[in-house]
Amino acid sequence: MATKLHVLKAMEGDAFILTVEENGNMFNMVIDGGPLDAYQEVSAELNKLDHIDILVITHFDRDHYEGIIEWLKEDPLRLQKIDHIWVNCTVVISLNKGTEVSAYSNSHSLKEFLEGVEQNHPDWNIDWKQEIIAGYKYTNQNPFVEIEIIAPTNESKGIFEHEYEKQYPAISAQGVKDQMSRSLKELADDETLKPAYQKVNNSSIAMIIRTNDKSLLMTGDCMATDMYNYITQKLNKSKEDPLSIDIMKLPHHGSRYNINNDLLDIVDCDKYLITTNGGAGNANHPDRQTIAKILKREGRRDKHIEICLNYSRKDEMASHGTKFLTDDEISDKKNNFDLKENIEWL
Ligand SMILES: [Zn+2]
Repeated sequence: MATKLHVLKAMEGDAFILTVEENGNMFNMVIDGGPLDAYQEVSAELNKLDHIDILVITHFDRDHYEGIIEWLKEDPLRLQKIDHIWVNCTVVISLNKGTEVSAYSNSHSLKEFLEGVEQNHPDWNIDWKQEIIAGYKYTNQNPFVEIEIIAPTNESKGIFEHEYEKQYPAISAQGVKDQMSRSLKELADDETLKPAYQKVNNSSIAMIIRTNDKSLLMTGDCMATDMYNYITQKLNKSKEDPLSIDIMKLPHHGSRYNINNDLLDIVDCDKYLITTNGGAGNANHPDRQTIAKILKREGRRDKHIEICLNYSRKDEMASHGTKFLTDDEISDKKNNFDLKENIEWL
């Protein structure tokens, strides 16, 4: 029996396939599908799955949904092998007007597309209409998989197309370079950074997944506050009695705007996963400050941890034009961590 997280190389975006196998029974879950640039890599892996129990599109952002939409458009028959689609933004996800989508060429949005498929194939029983918000729980018995949604809240869920463009803070390559002149300890203690306006990102579906041999915290591009509130208020976890997790996928590709010491303190974690090739456009990921907080914050637990990248540091530096850690910081035993690069399976 084994749980495996396949971390796909989805360029600046996210794409994961979680598989759980127990006594010959399989559970397959797809979480996001990367941007169009990563389509070849992502679709090749999706095509290998003969059944998808749950397909999740965490939020309305192209580096998370484009690959999925392209894959469904390419052959709508693929919907036959999906039981549940978890997505809160079907109205705003566009299928690109004018694109022929077999029998559903009038569909402009994912919502219209899925409705068209439903009309033509009522027997497929694709479940996609339920809103997936904090508090929702799902259990699969064989193999055992338990999922608890911790974000978005009902308030954070609502997004509109016009909000997409203005969501991003100006994270410049220069900003990342400037951080190199500050020590990890100084950056870890600095909690003055205001969370930037990221309404689309904060509508991300974030969840705790537990199987018989692994626990994961998958966070999409969520902000820290909603997740912190859920874990403390609904799960009654605290710094003293933290949420125990094997793998935490850091939100928003390691952006410093989506993490804080409070959230890190209430999660006791062995492996932190950062998914990005360094970012595209204005984004420069991951931030040195995010890594500083993991390593050097006051509340860090005294144990060895791993920080896992799905690309190499060199790839990410090529995009940044700068390092986010020095070689000395990586080899410094006092930092008590391993940097793992090009991670494909966890
Ligand atoms: Zn993203």
